[in-house]
Amino acid sequence: MFATSYPPEPAENVSGPALELLDEMRIRLMECRLVLQALSGHADMNFDELENDLDVAEGGVQNAHAAASLVHQGAALDARWGADWSRPRAIFARHGAAVRGGATRVLPERSVGDRIERALWQLPPADRMQNFTGPRPQCQSAVRATGAQCVSRAVYLGTGSFGAHCYTHANRHERDQYRMHLDIVAASQSELYEKLSDQRHRIGQEVSERWLQTRADRRRWAEEVGLQPRSADGGGE
Ligand SMILES: [Zn+2]
Repeated sequence: MFATSYPPEPAENVSGPALELLDEMRIRLMECRLVLQALSGHADMNFDELENDLDVAEGGVQNAHAAASLVHQGAALDARWGADWSRPRAIFARHGAAVRGGATRVLPERSVGDRIERALWQLPPADRMQNFTGPRPQCQSAVRATGAQCVSRAVYLGTGSFGAHCYTHANRHERDQYRMHLDIVAASQSELYEKLSDQRHRIGQEVSERWLQTRADRRRWAEEVGLQPRSADGGGE
């Protein structure tokens, strides 16, 4: 036996249905958040703590799904630290260690939950025109102390155009244009934010209605669960 060899461990595995269920769990937590927001019109209460709890829980499920996706794809993992199964963070760390050791990096698969999150919670980039390729122009001024050319980037004035100078060396006209550009970006961002917020509210109401429609089934299910014998009561086998 070599000193560096690890004791044999059972290979970890995550099934396809398990992965689907974790994504579904995340989506149901998103539904909870949407319903909670829609509740504000019907309940005069402050639910900010509950909202935060749901947010944290959803983040936890998202991590669990991403880590499970790595295991499901057979990503290389360094040896486990103990006898117990790894938590999501440990899976990421073990895969990171394996990649540093030369293994191929595997990314979590995109899930349905990711798509919903992007559509309902993420604002698009502030200024699409800024996403152009190629280097950004450099400031035309010289640094007073050394006389060398300033190495800062020229200020961005929106819609793909730049000033001749960085913010420090900008003249008043450039600074005014720069501030105007920032105001326009801020206004369009807050408009987009409002739109997203309205959309979440509308979908929250739809989900709320769907939930209310299934309440009769829920009550029936609760009764059925109550009728099932509990093993602690000595009922059944
Ligand atoms: Zn400059």
